[in-house]
Amino acid sequence: ASNVILVIGGAGYIGSHTCMLLAESGYAPVTFDCLSNGHREFVQWGPLIEGDVTNYEAIEAAICDLRPAAIVHFAGLIEVGQSTLTPTDFYHNNVTGTLNVLRAAQKAGVTSLVFSSTCATYGMPQNLPITEEEEQQPINPYGRTKLIAEMAIRDACQHEGMRAVILRYFNAAGADFSGRIGEWHEPETHLIPLTIDVALGRRKELTIFGNDYETRDGTCIRDFVHVLDLADAHVRAVRHLIGGGDSDAINLGTGTGTSVLELAAAVEAVSGHHLARRDSPRRPGDPSTLVAGNARARRVLGWQPVYGLDDIVRSAFQWHSARNH
Ligand code: UDP
Repeated sequence: ASNVILVIGGAGYIGSHTCMLLAESGYAPVTFDCLSNGHREFVQWGPLIEGDVTNYEAIEAAICDLRPAAIVHFAGLIEVGQSTLTPTDFYHNNVTGTLNVLRAAQKAGVTSLVFSSTCATYGMPQNLPITEEEEQQPINPYGRTKLIAEMAIRDACQHEGMRAVILRYFNAAGADFSGRIGEWHEPETHLIPLTIDVALGRRKELTIFGNDYETRDGTCIRDFVHVLDLADAHVRAVRHLIGGGDSDAINLGTGTGTSVLELAAAVEAVSGHHLARRDSPRRPGDPSTLVAGNARARRVLGWQPVYGLDDIVRSAFQWHSARNH
């Protein structure tokens, strides 16, 4: 059987780390990416097909030519704030893109799909930690596009013979320890890279979005999960599906929450620099606390996060220090 895995969005942050671990596990990753947000230099573990997942003919040609053993679909727009400015773009990329992947997979007879989803599909959770049983009521266009894509995938699984593992990430962070690949978004909006930029003197101060949440220190709490742990879960999901495992939707988080201020303190400890801070109003659409219940990932995939906050901050700091943008 083929060991080719088509990684759509393999030039991105989580996609490139997944290609690395797929290659280390004996698979042959092939990246399909339009490089609008991905980076050519991140494609180091197999060939690159340059193409846009919203172009049906392009993705159909790639899937029909390769007939991969499985498809891992990362490509999408991810930034919550941007999704409120250009929602139609988000629906086009995230929903149409996923429908194209499903149709092309069906045409080629490929029945194993791993899909990138998000805890943003839960919206403002009623229960903590958040399990997969939590109601999915997204509060922004980004979360809605991912939920609609999930629904299409679930229907394809129920009625058309697809098998899919939907992975709902909490806050991806950190980088491969070799310094070859890491988090690189333009413009950057994520907490850890911005905080590190302040520590490196590349930005003046850290803006704290809200200090009056009902949390232990008033700032939001997030579940930061190392990108290598996420990548490992994708390899496990691929193996699960190729081995005939059932479809499922699975949270990926550590189960441990870190507040914005605790994160800033961790960056101060690793960098040895004091961070200037400025309090600012809440950012619209931010839930106060997002922490994963990860029992299903353990049970279904045998997955458990290996890296903690210190590894995340150290590897991210190393990656960003070595770069100059
Ligand atoms: N945050 C912040 N200052 C920043 C960027 C982010 O206080 O400059 C907060 C943000 O309000 C949220 C948390 O950090 O509570 C994580 O935000 P991020 O954008 O990294 O990820 P998200 O949780 O939105 O996926």
